[in-house]
Amino acid sequence: MLEYRQRAWAEISLDALAHNVQVIQNQLGEHTEFCAVVKADAYGHGEEFICKKLSALGIKFYAVSSFEEAIRVRKWCPESEILILGYTAPECAVSLAEHHIIQTIISEDYAKELSSYAKNLNIKIKCHIKLDTGMGRIGLFAKSQETCLQEIKTILNLSGLQVEGIFTHFAVADEPDSENQAYTQAQENLIFDISDKLKQENILLKHVHCMNSAGICYHNQPKSTLARAGIILYGLMPNRFLEVPFALQPVLSLRTRISHIKMIHKGDCVSYGRTYQAQEQRKIATITIGYADGYARLLSNQAQVLVNGIRCPIVGRVCMDQTMIDVTDIPDLSVGMVVTLIGQDGNDCITADELAGYYQTIGYEVVCGISKRIPRVFIENSNIIHKDNLI
Ligand SMILES: *Cc1c(COP(=O)(O)O)cnc(C)c1O
Repeated sequence: MLEYRQRAWAEISLDALAHNVQVIQNQLGEHTEFCAVVKADAYGHGEEFICKKLSALGIKFYAVSSFEEAIRVRKWCPESEILILGYTAPECAVSLAEHHIIQTIISEDYAKELSSYAKNLNIKIKCHIKLDTGMGRIGLFAKSQETCLQEIKTILNLSGLQVEGIFTHFAVADEPDSENQAYTQAQENLIFDISDKLKQENILLKHVHCMNSAGICYHNQPKSTLARAGIILYGLMPNRFLEVPFALQPVLSLRTRISHIKMIHKGDCVSYGRTYQAQEQRKIATITIGYADGYARLLSNQAQVLVNGIRCPIVGRVCMDQTMIDVTDIPDLSVGMVVTLIGQDGNDCITADELAGYYQTIGYEVVCGISKRIPRVFIENSNIIHKDNLI
């Protein structure tokens, strides 16, 4: 295990990332291009070095959530396609065109507004039209197929836009029961029916895409021209109760250190609220991480950490910057020792998906929630290639 002076840090394995790209790519049909979803600072992993590594691996299509993210990713991926999955103010039209960014069209009204901004400036904005086939978030309502087709044709005729594709997003592709499977199938049928009807009218689009991570894992559709891989790229599961049919490697590990070790006795309490009271003599260590680092307070008295490869429970409430663990059974303890909150230590491993289970959330929220106070340390071939703002 690599060690640093810092009190807490996240190790980002670019080798694990490369492994995941490889195994995901092996799943894709020959007409499906890999699209790396790097929104939210690459799911909290650190957008710059993730993007640079993905570019080096030959990935040429990226998806982000916002205009600001797109402009940043353009710096790391100067030659690639970048698709903004969410809303961008039409006032950003010039920058969208200047940076060759693809904007998602959210509705017919939005298309008209964006197009009129572009037309006034004599530019064209690349876009993909979003179809709402059942997610209920953004997009043209696809269930009214005739109206939807009409709207698509209206948008295709707007002179400020250069429409290169249509796409949709699955709502329950990670649910194994037959009702949800049928729902996903219906979403898929809707978009490809619409695409077929457009083809019959000689309207050919470069892109028709539907797959997110769960789609790639459980509803692989070779007709989808893009596979928008998010969570699996980072080695986590779309649904922690449903096995992924290929071997992923988690990219992020979260580690901290022991700052203090002491014995406590029957009746002694630990942390705010006195939610933990010793029933007998216990050895307690304090670690230098807390909820301000994104280690959720809901993990209080719930989660475990690894010390010397052995599991130790969190005792008492997680504080803002410090947390206590029970180390009674751990040999060879010392102040400064490394403690693993997420990741491998010895033969054991704690995943972000495991932590998510303690407070009814998903691994996505765990990794996205690791705060900016935690420096990201990027590792490639066992070497540290970059450390964030470390002093
Ligand atoms: C976030 C997002 C994805 C990626 O989702 P994962 O489940 O992380 O693969 C794909 N498409 C859209 C539209 C998204 O918003």
